[in-house]
Amino acid sequence: MELVRLIYVSSVGAEFELSSFEEILYKAQQNNSGNEVTGILYFNQHYFLQYLEGSAVKVRETYNRIRQDKRHDDVRILDESNIDKRLFGGWSMAYILDSDFLTPLNLRFMDSPEFNPYRLNAQSANEIIVELRRVLPLAYLNSRDYGVPEL
Ligand code: FAD
Repeated sequence: MELVRLIYVSSVGAEFELSSFEEILYKAQQNNSGNEVTGILYFNQHYFLQYLEGSAVKVRETYNRIRQDKRHDDVRILDESNIDKRLFGGWSMAYILDSDFLTPLNLRFMDSPEFNPYRLNAQSANEIIVELRRVLPLAYLNSRDYGVPEL
């Protein structure tokens, strides 16, 4: 099986509502489990940064559905490459909500205390994803509450 990763950024769109993030996450976890797609979604009420990994066919199919979703727009791929192994095996879709805890990472990778993933390129996007994987448990604990249920 050809294993790939795909990283994209997008902005909250006209059809995004208060409950949308929870719905997106639920649907992502449901679909991705069946497709053996894993990854992480970082969200801060304005922007999304998503990392998808899995078989080339399933990741592409998933991305093609995602990019047509009217709950976000200005969808731009930062990286699409082959990988040797998964970073998020076991996570059908982990999520991270912005918080003060992540300010040092935002400063390091985006040169701003605010999360703005459009400032990333392929290399820095991959680097921040590795960092997010590393701090995932702590980031969950520090996430601002956007109405997402506790795990
Ligand atoms: P259904 O859930 O039946 O949806 C059918 C159509 O309706 C789709 O076009 C969908 O986009 C649209 N739709 C559904 N609910 C709403 C709503 N409340 N408002 C507006 N339009 C709506 N899906 C994944 O499978 N994996 C992911 O990792 C993933 N990540 C996502 C990340 C982001 C930032 C966003 C915005 C969406 C993500 N989605 C993901 C959802 C994806 O865009 C599709 O909605 C979903 O895959 C469609 O699932 P389905 O085929 O079961 O169709």
